[in-house]
Amino acid sequence: MIAPGRPSPIKTANEVTILLRAVLGEDRFPVDVAMVAADYSKRFADPITKVIGASLGEFEGMLRPGRKKPVWHIIYNNDTAYEGRERFTLAHEFGHYLLHRRPLAGQGGGPLNDEEAEALTFSCNPIDKHKWGRMGATIEEEADTFASYLLMPIDDYRRQVHGQDIGLPLLRYITDRYGVSLTAALRKWIEFTDRRAAMIVARDGFALWGRASNRACRSGIFIPSGLPIPDQSVATQGPAAQNGDTDRPVALPEGVWAFKRGSEPVRELTIFFQRLGKSLSLLLFDDKPAVEDVEDPRVADAVDQLPQWGTGPC
Ligand SMILES: [Zn+2]
Repeated sequence: MIAPGRPSPIKTANEVTILLRAVLGEDRFPVDVAMVAADYSKRFADPITKVIGASLGEFEGMLRPGRKKPVWHIIYNNDTAYEGRERFTLAHEFGHYLLHRRPLAGQGGGPLNDEEAEALTFSCNPIDKHKWGRMGATIEEEADTFASYLLMPIDDYRRQVHGQDIGLPLLRYITDRYGVSLTAALRKWIEFTDRRAAMIVARDGFALWGRASNRACRSGIFIPSGLPIPDQSVATQGPAAQNGDTDRPVALPEGVWAFKRGSEPVRELTIFFQRLGKSLSLLLFDDKPAVEDVEDPRVADAVDQLPQWGTGPC
């Protein structure tokens, strides 16, 4: 849910998309966020004047005010560990700018001291939900939702994947088209697919975070943080369990993956990020639910009728 009076991330992203489409047409992917942010923000008294890469330690991105003038800078972590995620990070910070910033012009436009600048700065780890503090979770979700809709408009994404089997080749096509990471691409697919499916980001044998599709959620599939990754899963067994075919999901019998409402056979596709020590798993369930659909526990977004990233228990 969006707090009353706050702009909707989806509507805000769509407004930028409409302009982009009008100027660049259908051939506008991947979105050049640095250019769009600089251009679009010129309409405000405190525009974005710099987008730069730097070493940011534990953070992937920042939106911070200039000290001397009423302007904003977007900084992304250019450490190689974050390669392929820069575009989403820039879009996430652009989201904070449009949705959450305190306009600088309203502060008199004078120089800011360190403390004032710090208080206005957003320091972020987009998509990595397990790193979000409780207080910041809502605005982090909103910035992620904005980034997702700006970079991967849902109507275009649906057209690209229509009628195709989900697997690594299709996900690679999507990451190339939109210039996003596999995690961001899969996260979006989970959001709109009508399949029963779930994704899990795991490290050291436990889920850092996960997400189930609407339909999976309604059949009792939830992915809590800390969910133990089963011993017999591909995620635990490693690439050897993929039988030499890393492109397609591996069929696993009932009893390997278990959720709140029991176990059932799944097809599992796992991608290993050796350097980060993480894995990303896609679980595909039979489309006939093993249990009766339960009422969707999520609260519909009254403004958009579309889900926010991270809303609800799935
Ligand atoms: Zn953020």
